Amino acid sequence: MKTPGIPELVDPTKGCEKRLTFEGSVSTENLPRFTELQMQDVGELETVKAKYTFGRDEQNLKVAVMSYSTTAKLPCQRCLGRVDYKIEGEVTLVFSDSEDDLEMLPKSYEPVLVENQEVNLYQALEDELLLSLPMFAYHDDEHCSSELNEMKSKADEQRADNPFAVLGELLKK
Ligand SMILES: [Zn+2]
Repeated sequence: MKTPGIPELVDPTKGCEKRLTFEGSVSTENLPRFTELQMQDVGELETVKAKYTFGRDEQNLKVAVMSYSTTAKLPCQRCLGRVDYKIEGEVTLVFSDSEDDLEMLPKSYEPVLVENQEVNLYQALEDELLLSLPMFAYHDDEHCSSELNEMKSKADEQRADNPFAVLGELLKK
């Protein structure tokens, strides 16, 4: 599905000369690695709001500021319920035609290789989102599944009962 607002492929030279801005949303269907995670039931991602502003920096490099915000639903490592994890940020993409040049670019930029005079905006976004995911997600205690909390307190009760049960057994003898 084509999303209105943000094209998948852009000619960065044109984009930077014309100082183009793209703003809109990118759905998970356009982010194949997230679709894969969803199929494996690892997590889900809501539609991503994103904005790209193309231009030249003070060194005359071709750049675009990419900002994004979305919410990932990840499995809680305690109760296996879903945790909402907010992802938002902003990076400066820098475009280069040769892989060798990528090494030379400022480290604060996110390098993107230009292929056939085009860059893939969805791919750049997906790379950034994947880097933003935490290794593990947990609910706040109060939001963690009450079922599991109940199980835990029942287990505690049982454990607390045990000494008396044992004592009872001993008295019967
Ligand atoms: Zn939880």
